[in-house]
Amino acid sequence: MRYISTRDPKRTPQKFSDILLEGLAPDGGLFLPEEYPTITGEDLDRWRKTLADGGYPALAAEVLQLFIDDIPADDLADLTHRAYSYPKFSEQEIVTVTHLEDDIYKGGLSYGPTAAFKDMAMQLLGELFEYELKRRGQVLNILGATSGDTGSSAEYAMRGRDGISVFMLTPRGRMTAFQQAQMFSIDDPNVINMAVDGVFDDCQDIVKAVSSDLQFKRTWSIGAVNSINWARLVAQVVYYIYIWLRMTDGVAPAEQYDTKLSFAVPTGNFGDVCAGHVARSMGLPIDRLIVVTNENDVLNEFFSTGVYRVRSAAQTLATSSPSMDISKASNFERFIADLLGRDAERVADLFGRQLNEQGYFDLSDDPAFERIVSDYGFMSGSSTHQDRLDTIRHTWEDDGVMIDPHTADGVKVARELKANNEVDTPIVCLETALPVKFSETIEEATGEQPEIPERFQGIEDLPRRVLDVPNDAEHVKQVIVENSS
Ligand SMILES: *Cc1c(COP(=O)(O)O)cnc(C)c1O
Repeated sequence: MRYISTRDPKRTPQKFSDILLEGLAPDGGLFLPEEYPTITGEDLDRWRKTLADGGYPALAAEVLQLFIDDIPADDLADLTHRAYSYPKFSEQEIVTVTHLEDDIYKGGLSYGPTAAFKDMAMQLLGELFEYELKRRGQVLNILGATSGDTGSSAEYAMRGRDGISVFMLTPRGRMTAFQQAQMFSIDDPNVINMAVDGVFDDCQDIVKAVSSDLQFKRTWSIGAVNSINWARLVAQVVYYIYIWLRMTDGVAPAEQYDTKLSFAVPTGNFGDVCAGHVARSMGLPIDRLIVVTNENDVLNEFFSTGVYRVRSAAQTLATSSPSMDISKASNFERFIADLLGRDAERVADLFGRQLNEQGYFDLSDDPAFERIVSDYGFMSGSSTHQDRLDTIRHTWEDDGVMIDPHTADGVKVARELKANNEVDTPIVCLETALPVKFSETIEEATGEQPEIPERFQGIEDLPRRVLDVPNDAEHVKQVIVENSS
């Protein structure tokens, strides 16, 4: 399996281990496999046994082998067993499937160390990074900016690893109490939290300033764990297959492979749902992939109209499903590359030129636009604050299940599509965080406080390790120099 950049007309092939530590390709594109591996009914039958015998990590090792051929299979299995283990994940099964109502289910992906589904990808990434850096005799200083889930998920994945340090910038005083407690209570010398005197955009500007000082970047081995990393995405393909296997366990063997499922996916950077697109492209029996946004509906607009129009920071609203508050969807280029038959020159023109020059591109008149539904199964919908409140209350009172505001966005759209008979297969709504992370909204919706899982009890009383820093890239560089791996 070799990888190519979405913007490289020469299709220069690269190995998995060479793109693992990279973010963007040098030409500004994203990495994709030259071709997706295919899944047959026989593969699924075999994996059903793998899952019964060895659980989630065994299945993950099998699936990942299709994409990673430059790490020996035994080593890969070690990595997946370490990444997906109990009690690091609070459920032995790692991922759960729960019936909500009628033909609507919840895929539970948020039992990892930070109670968000990002752990599914990040825990594996931590193992892969440590493995590959050791193999190369290299170190890595990860620099990032976060306003919530990504930063804490990265820190919990990278803590205590040889040769890796994490420098994470946060806007001072602007995260929820729980999120601050989660990050700042990590007592680990290789995790350095910095609270910047500024907002999230200032943090991102500092990351950009430090990373564009190429001399500094090379000298201090600066890297990132952003959402465009291919390894993060491929880790997420596994749970689509897992959920399909679990959902079809009760179906007669002869009919299993004909059983299709749909997924409702709360979307920000188009990472999670892009993994669904990859699984579907491989041949997993997926009917619809339902892209769900909140009030920041860049993607719902594209899927409804064919116009992809990125927003400015000022046009990006702060909502009660904050992890979906995006101005542009950084993984979206991967799907468009597939839609356009991997036409690298066109992708470069759309994402490299048109977006920069005019802030949007328009595929409404392109024959490809119709194929989004007919060939790729995509649908979309969006949700508001009031929808989230209503959905959280309804799901709690009628189904007895408490869901977080992001998951509620998905459930709201799934219910709507079902009520209008627009989807005739079961819909699995992916749960992207646990309610405990967003207790204010839960209380507003239900009048009750969400349950605090045992592993998070007392976390807000732990001592905090965080450096207050000015809004100044030079100062941040100094902190990196003094604490680097
Ligand atoms: C990151 C995140 C999302 C969006 O996921 P993408 O892969 O960026 O589309 C949704 N919900 C929660 C809770 C998240 O942390």
